[in-house]
Amino acid sequence: MIKEIGVIGAGQMGNGIAHVAALAGYDVKLLDVNADQLKKAMATIDKNLSRQVSKGKVSEADKAATLARIQPATEYQAFANSDLVIEAATENEEVKRKIFQQLCPALKPEALIASNTSSISITRLGAGTDRPAKFIGVHFMNPVPVMELVELIRGIATGEETFALVREMAVRLGKIPVSAEDFPAFIVNRILLPMINEAVYTLYEGVGTVDAIDTAMRLGAHHPMGPLELADFIGLDTCLAIMHVLHDGLADTKYRPCPLLVKYVEAGWLGRKTGRGFYDYSGEKPVPTR
Ligand code: NAD
Repeated sequence: MIKEIGVIGAGQMGNGIAHVAALAGYDVKLLDVNADQLKKAMATIDKNLSRQVSKGKVSEADKAATLARIQPATEYQAFANSDLVIEAATENEEVKRKIFQQLCPALKPEALIASNTSSISITRLGAGTDRPAKFIGVHFMNPVPVMELVELIRGIATGEETFALVREMAVRLGKIPVSAEDFPAFIVNRILLPMINEAVYTLYEGVGTVDAIDTAMRLGAHHPMGPLELADFIGLDTCLAIMHVLHDGLADTKYRPCPLLVKYVEAGWLGRKTGRGFYDYSGEKPVPTR
């Protein structure tokens, strides 16, 4: 039975996971290497809960109780009583490996570990821990409090009990789980990211402007957000990392990351989270940059 959930990485996904877990009644420990990021995450959770209160979805009392259930942490010892730890740190295999090396000795033997990775092999990440049978992929969508789907990914060694316990947790969070096999980028991003990458190619080749491309896909394909707007929302570093995983893992040139996407990431223009990507977010309204 899962009672306490640890979350590693307090970025856009980590704060959302902490939010929905605490709202569902789990005790939550939220850790980040960056203390400022932790503070920002707590403020974001507060703000997002207030939005749910104003929409009548959450009561003031539940908001207060939810916030009280989340404890920020900077040391792995904080996870000593956690039943499940969900890793949602930067999409970089080396970073994640190091996290698991530090995490495992701090955990109780029966604790489960999940990674929110968008694309990296769950089998490989699990093999780098002391408990591959208790390791699983739990891929939440962004923004976590709003999106209904969770992909559950078994690595080759993931035990059935691990799958069942984590599935039950996802349902308790109000999410609808689908099961995906452990292939690069799983289901959603295997389909979504090549489309985003293609949108960047259309921009790169001058087929359309940022505004033309996003308007075309919003009105022409009824997508709620244009692909470049969505790329900024996901984070261009994360988009690029996923394209690399697809390219390396499936060895097909159709997954070649667009050089313009690479340039934006090199420039530190990572999208909404840094205030600039395909749009500039410094003003009141996002302004296309090309
Ligand atoms: P982010 O950049 O917003 O947050 C990453 C956080 O990890 C940062 O706060 C950073 O300080 C922290 N971090 C980095 N190294 C760390 C370490 N060693 N220990 C603890 N914390 C560390 O990124 P994000 O968008 O929240 O993505 C996090 C994970 O979720 C990635 O694996 C990503 O692929 C996945 N994901 C992202 C999305 C999306 O739309 N952005 C959707 C689903 C899954």
